[in-house]
Amino acid sequence: LPPPKESNVDVLIVGAGPAGYMAALWLAKLGIKTKFIDKRSTKIFTGQADGLQPRVLEVFETFGFVDRAIKEVAVGYEACFYEPDETGRIRRVDKIPEGVPGISRFNGSVIHQGRIETWLSDAIEEFSGGALTVERPLAPESLEIESADSTSEYPVRVVLKRLPDDNASPEQFGHKVENGLYRQFEGDQINPVSSSQDDTEVLRAKYVLGCDGAHSWVRKQLGIEHKGETTDYVWGVLDIVPVTDFPDIRKRCSIHSKDGGSIMVIPRENGIVRLYIQLEGVANEADEATNVADDSTPSTATNGEKKKARVDRSKLTSEHILATAQNIFKPYSLEVAEMHWFTAYQIGQRVATHFQKDNRVFIAGDACHTHSPKAGQGMNVSMMDTFNLAWKIAYVVKGLAKPSILTTYEDERHTVAEDLIAYDLKLSRLFSSKPGEISTEEFRRVIDQGSAFTTGCTVDYGASLLMDKPADQPRDVPYCSPLATKLAIGMRLPDAKLVMQSDARPWFLNQQLPSTGQFRLLIFIGDYAQTPALKTQLSDIGAFLAESETALQKLRDDNVLQPLLIHASPQAKVEWDDFPIVFRPRDKRGVMNYWLILADTPSMHEITGDAYEKYGIDKGVGAAVLLRPDGYVTKITEPTVEGIKDIWKFLSRFLVALEPSTACTFSSNAFSTKS
Ligand code: FAD
Repeated sequence: LPPPKESNVDVLIVGAGPAGYMAALWLAKLGIKTKFIDKRSTKIFTGQADGLQPRVLEVFETFGFVDRAIKEVAVGYEACFYEPDETGRIRRVDKIPEGVPGISRFNGSVIHQGRIETWLSDAIEEFSGGALTVERPLAPESLEIESADSTSEYPVRVVLKRLPDDNASPEQFGHKVENGLYRQFEGDQINPVSSSQDDTEVLRAKYVLGCDGAHSWVRKQLGIEHKGETTDYVWGVLDIVPVTDFPDIRKRCSIHSKDGGSIMVIPRENGIVRLYIQLEGVANEADEATNVADDSTPSTATNGEKKKARVDRSKLTSEHILATAQNIFKPYSLEVAEMHWFTAYQIGQRVATHFQKDNRVFIAGDACHTHSPKAGQGMNVSMMDTFNLAWKIAYVVKGLAKPSILTTYEDERHTVAEDLIAYDLKLSRLFSSKPGEISTEEFRRVIDQGSAFTTGCTVDYGASLLMDKPADQPRDVPYCSPLATKLAIGMRLPDAKLVMQSDARPWFLNQQLPSTGQFRLLIFIGDYAQTPALKTQLSDIGAFLAESETALQKLRDDNVLQPLLIHASPQAKVEWDDFPIVFRPRDKRGVMNYWLILADTPSMHEITGDAYEKYGIDKGVGAAVLLRPDGYVTKITEPTVEGIKDIWKFLSRFLVALEPSTACTFSSNAFSTKS
């Protein structure tokens, strides 16, 4: 037999779910040679995740396709709580805002996962010029990492196997309606029909990302433990177009019935409603079930108890789940005009002990953390895992940054996963409790406390090579510099509306910070026109950034660092020609870049002019703010040459070209600035 085909690739992504797609999106945008595989023969068309948190919508905006989401999603504005009255009839007891008003320009939104994957996939195709698509059905058969002292450029060897279609299609257990009851075969159960070498491919990669879901084959190869437990609580899910007289069916509702269990109502796109339904009694059947069929990998119970038997989900029917829902909804009626999808799951919470091996093979998404879907977090946190990781890998692959930045992935995202599991545990217990066991007040308190977390906007990364804050900063206390008292180092930059100096058009700052791979240096120079000291500082900074010998200038020319000026001087006191040339540079043809100066001043048309106030920056002092390529605030200094030099020193901890002894090694135009 001829030897199997061999090739090299910078990054291999295993698994085309939300985590894999987000990784592929970043890597396509940053021009990294990537192979992207999935064991299924098609993408998903119905069911699974459907909640998009505000932070993820902000990220979609930076990749240029949030408009597709806005056109199609159902948006949550209010949440209602229903409890039984003395006679046992459910009635509304409270109505609160959904999410946290004002935390983001976007509200929590809902649409099915397949649609979201389509937007991501279209953008990947656009960014890669059609070169990067998911190759299916393809799965890894073996994975080896060369020893740590190997000098190989491609130290991870993976054997890939093309799968026969019957292995790659999920079983429907005889149901006519699409459902999530199936349990796909696992990577180690691959049963190829032929052992032809044509089906096999040997790949050598610099990095491998295991985005292969809860049962992660990659995680198992790395010997990483997935720690946690499965509870007895069983929930059903229906995606239906309902026929009902329930008045709040188009609002998110939490319903606790007297003895029928609980329901969560989630309005979706195109008149669809998702119902999460507590399945009373099924847990007892589960004790007798022999077929393991849950969504999470069986693992050692942390308390050392004997592992519980699992529900045989293949035996559940949509009729049974609907009948349970109808009982909880009483006295309101609930019939079904269209049934799109259904499933049932047993709640479990697990976190992987590590998210990487040798900083060469990483796991992300459900491969790292599994939990109940009711908090609507899994898909979001999964995408944000690889949004955190992939730009770091791109920097290392391009030789721009030291590999040590890769250690920040596990540090930063493991903390988020732990917070997620802690919140989900609380929420699941509340939802699965009976009325009377937990007071309505306590229920709402947990929802209120969790609201900010579920927006994804409160993630706060700790001190690291990439985060300039004290190592002993308590995790739950944001760290702010006195120069920007409301801008926390470690958190994403909150949005504000500013006026573009050149054409007076109002813009949200996030719209001017597309995901291009660049660090951003935001110079908040305050009311420089009326503050002589700031005027001098601005001209000194302009001269320093333009000095051809400085590495900062080189970073700027190669698009690794983009400076933006944000002033707060009244428009009547400002002249375009007074701004340093570095903020209005010309290209080789002499065409000026008009988009690097923004003003925190009132617009003649829209409400603007509150950014300094929002960020806690004094207009008489200003601040220089460094943002990472993923939009997180990294360092804050004074807006002076000394302050900028301090930022330079900070960057030289991890950017290769800024090491004191190294000559500038950035290739020309390291990243495309096309947004
Ligand atoms: P997955 O989406 O599981 O993708 C993994 C991919 O890897 C799959 O395509 C799989 O085919 C592939 N794969 C697996 N093994 C291999 C292998 N060996 N080789 C090659 N490919 C492989 N999350 C939310 O954020 N909001 C919600 O509202 C929400 N609701 C949910 C409702 C339900 C009913 C369920 C079941 C989940 C819900 N989730 C929700 C969770 C969400 O679906 C997951 O957290 C999310 O899909 C995880 O993304 P992922 O990319 O890590 O993994």
